[in-house]
Amino acid sequence: MRRSLAVVTCLLTLAGCATSTAGSASAPPPSPSIATAQRTAPPPSTVPRSTSTTPRTTKPAPPPVSGVVVLDPGHNGDNAANPDVINELVPAGRGRTKPCNTTGTATGAGYPEHAFTWSVAVRVRAILEARGIEVRLTRPNDRGIGPCVNERAAVGNDAAADAVVSIHADGSTNPAAHGFHVAYSSPPLNAAQGEPSLRLARTMRDGLSSAGFPLSTYVGSHGLSPRDDLGGLNLSTRPAVLVECGNMRNAAEAAAFSSPAGQRSYAAAIAAGILVYLA
Ligand code: ZN
Repeated sequence: MRRSLAVVTCLLTLAGCATSTAGSASAPPPSPSIATAQRTAPPPSTVPRSTSTTPRTTKPAPPPVSGVVVLDPGHNGDNAANPDVINELVPAGRGRTKPCNTTGTATGAGYPEHAFTWSVAVRVRAILEARGIEVRLTRPNDRGIGPCVNERAAVGNDAAADAVVSIHADGSTNPAAHGFHVAYSSPPLNAAQGEPSLRLARTMRDGLSSAGFPLSTYVGSHGLSPRDDLGGLNLSTRPAVLVECGNMRNAAEAAAFSSPAGQRSYAAAIAAGILVYLA
């Protein structure tokens, strides 16, 4: 039976990705349908069962999964051009304030974090919606400003999301640093930030690790990072985590972040982590 609500959100206040400067995969062409094969074959009564070689071309669809998931693609395309807006201080939980948002980071070649997070979020949405999950994003495109971290948290809260996942990539100045980590609010400020968020963090960690992505070499422990300074996590009343997919300043990870194939791989792993949590 499904457990209580889970929400994943990656908010913009991570130190690593806060200071520096999308489409679904196409399906392969369909193979010849069984119906066509049957139309050209002799009547079934004349075909000895033991000699039939018609392969199965379909497999059962996975069962639908119910739930509401909020995906929070970090940063936004126009943040860098609007510092007066994104530097405005907003509530960040635990009695603190933080800037509304940041520009995010970028690869050495200039591919921006906001574009990566948007592309991955759209791909995750497609995977989850195909399973029957209701998905909402915290921003409608990759061209706007903000939204502020408190506004992003409110999206998950107002949706009563079962899981909130924020998607980011880090910007460590050490190019050798690499690997992903999953942040969660700690100490928890409400029940959803306790066991549900920790369980979501673990299923997300396991989803990425099972897909072959390495654990962070420079943040957290075993791919998990308890945090008390991330506004989006602090303000969430739903199960929420923030995924830092890796280091955009690491050459190998930068190549993956910048490529559609790499983005598909991250999206598949993140979606897998969400689906295990909701199961
Ligand atoms: Zn970020």
